[in-house]
Amino acid sequence: MAETFGAGRGSSAWLKVSGVSDEALDRESRCPCGGLVPGATFAECCGRLIESGRPGETAEAVMRSRYTAYSLADGQHLFRTWHPRTRPEHVEPEPWVRWVGLEVVDVVDGGPSDDAGVVEFRAAWVAGEGHTRQRGEVHERSRFERRAGRWLYVGPEGADVTGS
Ligand SMILES: [Zn+2]
Repeated sequence: MAETFGAGRGSSAWLKVSGVSDEALDRESRCPCGGLVPGATFAECCGRLIESGRPGETAEAVMRSRYTAYSLADGQHLFRTWHPRTRPEHVEPEPWVRWVGLEVVDVVDGGPSDDAGVVEFRAAWVAGEGHTRQRGEVHERSRFERRAGRWLYVGPEGADVTGS
């Protein structure tokens, strides 16, 4: 049975389960997020945001790039797409989990003409080998805000986020 982390709690699921893939990424292979356009390569999809630091056009594009950054253990991309109001001082994915699939369940606003949006997703992970192997998923409705033209992750919907 899949575990669910973080939904409705006061801190981000991503901080509880973060990880790295030990497989080298081929830029011309399918994007780890599955593709904003289904089947897109890393270079066409999240690579544009992660490698060039280009702002994503939608909250969903940024959410997908954050999933891919977790799978690549790219803490820098996670940091720069996290709202300064809520982000931790350091974002350092830990190398004990492999991210094996992303499903975007729901998207509310978060488009080019919006200032806020919600992206609900399920992200599957596995850890360990053989009989110590574990698997689970993160299921979160993430809030995003646009700030200075960039979509930024704020936190799980329903979490108590205060301040500015
Ligand atoms: Zn992608």
